Amino acid sequence: MFKKILIANRGEIALRIQRACRELGVKAVMVYSEADREAKYIKLADESVCIGPAPSAHSYLNMPAIISAAEVTDAEAIHPGYGFLSENADFAERVEKSGFKFIGPTPESIRIMGDKVSAKQTMIKAGVPCVPGSEGALPDDAVVIKRIAKQIGYPVIIKAAGGGGGRGMRVVHTEAALLHAVQTTKAEAGAAFGNPEVYMEKFLQNPRHIEIQILADQYKNAVWLGERDCSMQRRHQKVIEEAPAPGIPRKLIDKIGERCVAAVKKIGYRGAGTFEFLYENGEFYFIEMNTRVQVEHPVTEWITGVDIVRTQIMVAAGERLPFVQRDIQLKGHSIECRINAEDPYKFVPSPGRITNWHTPGGPGVRVDSHIYANYFVPPNYDSMIGKIIVHGDTREQALARMSTALAETVVEGINTNIPLHRELMVDAKFMDGGTNIHYLEEWLSKRER
Ligand code: ADP
Repeated sequence: MFKKILIANRGEIALRIQRACRELGVKAVMVYSEADREAKYIKLADESVCIGPAPSAHSYLNMPAIISAAEVTDAEAIHPGYGFLSENADFAERVEKSGFKFIGPTPESIRIMGDKVSAKQTMIKAGVPCVPGSEGALPDDAVVIKRIAKQIGYPVIIKAAGGGGGRGMRVVHTEAALLHAVQTTKAEAGAAFGNPEVYMEKFLQNPRHIEIQILADQYKNAVWLGERDCSMQRRHQKVIEEAPAPGIPRKLIDKIGERCVAAVKKIGYRGAGTFEFLYENGEFYFIEMNTRVQVEHPVTEWITGVDIVRTQIMVAAGERLPFVQRDIQLKGHSIECRINAEDPYKFVPSPGRITNWHTPGGPGVRVDSHIYANYFVPPNYDSMIGKIIVHGDTREQALARMSTALAETVVEGINTNIPLHRELMVDAKFMDGGTNIHYLEEWLSKRER
């Protein structure tokens, strides 16, 4: 096991990884920007290093500063968390070339999955079902593009190979609009992602977002840890996540989970990863793979009893997975609400000083947050300030526990989306389970103040 790890992230995930390090008896080096100097996990840290000013480009995305922080503190490995540099293959490569372990997959795996065209081709080869679409990137020939769209059938979606964060996508309903959409998406993708390649997929009308968590070691041992339903989204951002996914036959999910494990073994993937699928009419369609720990990992931890962050660190240190597939038994139901510093109606960010902070507790309640009373939420980063996660024997019990937890939570001084979560936990359709990816946006457009 490592003696010392550098955590190249901030906020709740930095604290989450620090906790895993403590349990493993590993020292944690925290890095921080000037805006995060006062953070609690910095004060709790064995060691900490300031890596630059508030803007992420100069701090949390500053590769040389992070690598030299690892050098001066004698850290052996770097955990990238999520966001920032976590899916940057060049960073992973520089980390390893500088003599540190990158706690994640190989740079090569990150590179393949970071390009959606190569990711999809890899998955098709590995037997993972994908959304019907073009074979690889679209050519320039207008006649060929039109023919592909006709074969797929309208509506289609044009997606950038280098896209991410819900950007670089355009839905096309008619042939008349096709070529213009392809050209515009290409131009935008070239400017935004430095890669003008685009591809085409069938546009699914009412899918759910279902994802499979996997863990693998470097000896080609791999398991899947059940699924998560992340269909409650606003602007392609997840708001509520849960596990298991309500109402989908176990047989179907088992089949897709086994496919994911087979793919992981085939491509020699190591570490934690998530296969994201759209699910419609009893079919799963792969859309992308995330090669890092995810915000919503706690719901999986709770129903499986597996500590995902701890396991990431163990397999990066060269250890074998401490369990096999038959050890993974799903128990009960878990739900996570992302707490954002934002207006609960207009969704404008609400940074500033938190004057009062009271967290919920009791059976089946977990709070992952770096917040405390008098904490100042900086305006420079993502608005998520923490997560409330609950577990119950049944989904009904989990929903009731979440409602109680949200009622107990007090955040003063800034606005948060807690009122939104309180409403959603008692919404009849959400309580029924199985809402699709458009449900929350439609609900918001009809919501009364
Ligand atoms: P990103 O990396 O930007 O998150 P994804 O490929 O994961 O891109 O897609 C993001 C979201 O866009 C999906 O969760 C879904 O809501 C929508 N989407 C993507 N592809 C399709 C498709 N073929 N049909 C319908 N919706 C899609």
